[in-house]
Amino acid sequence: MERKEFLKTALLVNAAIIAKPLLAMAKGFVIADFPLSNNNVTYYKKSDAPYDLLRKGFNKRIEKFPQIIALCSTKEGVAQAVKYAVANKLPIAIKSGGHCMEGFSSNNGGMVINLSLLNKLEWVEDFVVKVGPGCTLANLYNNILPKQKILPGGSCAGVGISGLVTGGGYGLMSRLFGLTCDSLQEVTMIDGKGNSVNSKDNPELLWACKGGGSGNFGIVTELKFKLHTAPKTMQSVRFKTKNATAQKAKQIFKTWFEESKLLPNHCFSACLLNGKTVYILLTNTSKTTAAVQRFINTLSAASQTTSKTAAQPLATALKTYYGRQAPMNFKNASAGLYKSFNEIEPFIEEVLQKVINTPGMIYQVNTVGGAVQNAEFEKTSCFAHRSYFYFSELQAYWETPTQGNKLMARFEEVQQLFSKNNITAQYRNYPDVNFKNSLQLYYGTNLERLKAVKKTYDPNNVLQHEQSI
Ligand SMILES: Cc1cc2nc3c(=O)[nH]c(=O)nc-3n(C[C@H](O)[C@H](O)[C@H](O)COP(=O)(O)OP(=O)(O)OC[C@H]3O[C@@H](n4cnc5c(N)ncnc54)[C@H](O)[C@@H]3O)c2cc1C
Repeated sequence: MERKEFLKTALLVNAAIIAKPLLAMAKGFVIADFPLSNNNVTYYKKSDAPYDLLRKGFNKRIEKFPQIIALCSTKEGVAQAVKYAVANKLPIAIKSGGHCMEGFSSNNGGMVINLSLLNKLEWVEDFVVKVGPGCTLANLYNNILPKQKILPGGSCAGVGISGLVTGGGYGLMSRLFGLTCDSLQEVTMIDGKGNSVNSKDNPELLWACKGGGSGNFGIVTELKFKLHTAPKTMQSVRFKTKNATAQKAKQIFKTWFEESKLLPNHCFSACLLNGKTVYILLTNTSKTTAAVQRFINTLSAASQTTSKTAAQPLATALKTYYGRQAPMNFKNASAGLYKSFNEIEPFIEEVLQKVINTPGMIYQVNTVGGAVQNAEFEKTSCFAHRSYFYFSELQAYWETPTQGNKLMARFEEVQQLFSKNNITAQYRNYPDVNFKNSLQLYYGTNLERLKAVKKTYDPNNVLQHEQSI
């Protein structure tokens, strides 16, 4: 959302929160078949001014129109909204940061529970914080980085902490500290009947919310995280090769796969093809060890240009990756997790050729591994893909509907190449509505156990979206 537009919404929302319940109480006014707002929750219907801005997510491609938007200011408000939805047989979608790539945080004709006002961060101990579900990554980092603390989250400033963590959460610090969900200690949630539950009473709920909770079991209203000592600085090295053929791009990707596997855990790297240009990014939050230098030397030799930034304070360096704030038209989905280049070698040239032929499309592979593979994390979370070293994504961006239609068709063609070639592990936070057996791809062997958690907390399937459990 542009800043001006955002401020307008905030003003409208705040004015409505104050004015509407007072007006309703004073007049004893109840809209037929419409819930009455109060200090805990404000309900909006299509004709209300803030409805349109509240219903929109970060992805402009997706347009949905819920019957009711429940803007909650307290946990009690969330419980009230759930009870109303249950009584009126309305399916519920949950919206925190609104960055779901396939629009699972909204629905048509149901209720959307909007948690953007529940965004506070509270310090519990020196290394422990409690965070509201609507807290964005920028808000989180702005609070914890001045105290030299970090949570291994994603890069984009506007992503909501609860969507990120309940799907796993990976980023520049994951190889050092694990996924975002690996730092989660406790969740409070309103379940599918409107009851408040806490994971202290049921460790299975915590296990399930660490990678399998996105809009499935209940509405997370508070998250408790353990923080880590933040590295002081971060340095970036960028490599670029223009006018690459598919064959040349394949060669560079292969070299990158071989070398990036040897990087220490304080490094992250990504290799991507955008048009005919291959870009490689390396970030480093510690010393340039022999392995890091070897990576730089080898990838410099394989690329046309290399540029290095001086080590910057971490807070400054992270801001470089905050990304665009205003909503845009795009499709971005997981294109598989891999252990090595071998899994994609037989068909990747075809993928790269299609990307070269399709302006607006990007294929990107990111390093995972490192602390993500920690055995204790594996035991305590349902994230199913820890044995992989690489996570890939396919992206497409456009301005006009004609460009969009063309890109979406191409996108499907490329995704089919991955599925035809048995790429079967996919990351839940980068969903694709076209995935067949999506739950199996996201949750692997943990799916049956997750279904049991769903039965406990949302037996009537009140919380639902296109790919919910
Ligand atoms: C530009 C961009 C950059 C991204 N970068 C990264 C990255 O670096 N690393 C990474 O891992 N991911 C990244 N993502 C993916 C991101 O993690 C997911 O889209 C995430 O689900 C967004 O969370 P949200 O709260 O903003 O979204 P929402 O759209 O509000 O919600 C997303 C999903 O989470 C569920 N959900 C939301 N809040 C709750 C809650 N309180 N309780 C239960 N379920 C809830 C919703 O039902 C929905 O299914 C990025 C996405 C975008 C668009």
